Amino acid sequence: MTTIVLDTLTKRFGDNLAVNAASFTLETGSFTALLGPSGCGKTTILRLIAGFEQPSAGSIHFNGRQVGSPGAMVPPERRSLGIVFQSYALWPHMDVASNVAYPLQARGLGRAAIDERVGAALEMVSLAGFGQRSVDGLSGGQRQRVALARCLVTGTDIILLDEPLANLDVHLRAEMLDVFARLHEKTGATIVFVTHDQSEALALADRVIVLDRGVVQQSGRPEQLYNEPANAMVAGFVGRGMLVSALVSDGRVTLADRPVLVRGQVQGSKAALLLRPENLTLADAGIPAAVVAARYSGAGYDTILQLANGEQVLLTARERLEPGRPVHFAIEDAWIVPG
Ligand code: ATP
Repeated sequence: MTTIVLDTLTKRFGDNLAVNAASFTLETGSFTALLGPSGCGKTTILRLIAGFEQPSAGSIHFNGRQVGSPGAMVPPERRSLGIVFQSYALWPHMDVASNVAYPLQARGLGRAAIDERVGAALEMVSLAGFGQRSVDGLSGGQRQRVALARCLVTGTDIILLDEPLANLDVHLRAEMLDVFARLHEKTGATIVFVTHDQSEALALADRVIVLDRGVVQQSGRPEQLYNEPANAMVAGFVGRGMLVSALVSDGRVTLADRPVLVRGQVQGSKAALLLRPENLTLADAGIPAAVVAARYSGAGYDTILQLANGEQVLLTARERLEPGRPVHFAIEDAWIVPG
């Protein structure tokens, strides 16, 4: 099994600093999401781990052995990892079994051994019995599972996935979430996947690394990122919530002259409070605000409220509140965002 260490890893493309001194460890058997907005460097990190790119500075180590640095590179085929691209990269003229068998044939394995391993890999991704089907006739989700099976068939213990759910519709996404979770449980492989979708990262990963402009912003369990974002970027990118500015005096935090119970470090005379909709309720004796807009979301009405100072918060109301209506709200939980 493999532990992957990135040590102050940097990648430049000309003047563009795609990855800027990223350091983190991917523990054996961990399931990690690289999360961030478009262009933040996620795919470049995946490609650096795979060996398709050479670092400009810093290094990558697999089980303590350096595999990538500006001076030396272990080529991708000798890193014994599997990678599933967004495009799936399947052979359209071959059937499912031949696609999955391809890496084993390239290694010269015998027919019986190949058949056995292909069968096991297809079963793992819930495609048992699909071996003779043509790839052309498969749905997006099925194609992706073929690509996954091809990656699993070699027995690799590192799996890299580039935006695994990006091309799938909502129902297939839910199905594939289960496939990935089961696969991780069964193989115990170290899995790293790239996504710009925070809900995907929170749902799948046991560890999420948030990137912005090539820099690691925070690395932690999904619950940590959601409940205790390290800075305003993470607070804004993970989950729904609004930042409002509160005053601090004698270690006590107030918003619109009302005391607020907060988590996090109270410092200085001001604090940026992260308020999430599920922690706000309409309450007669709460903080005064005015309704700006209300949108039906199925579970309730997403309602934007404006405070006297012009800042806004988001709350889920049971009924539609008319814009302009004065209301009061109470805060059940608030996190002081560092920085
Ligand atoms: P997306 O979600 O849009 O795929 P990303 O977070 O995966 O984005 P990267 O693809 O890693 O981001 O790109 C990071 C930065 O490096 C971007 O500014 C991108 O334009 C640049 N970049 C990536 N690959 C190359 C390349 N081969 N040549 C030049 N610039 C590149």
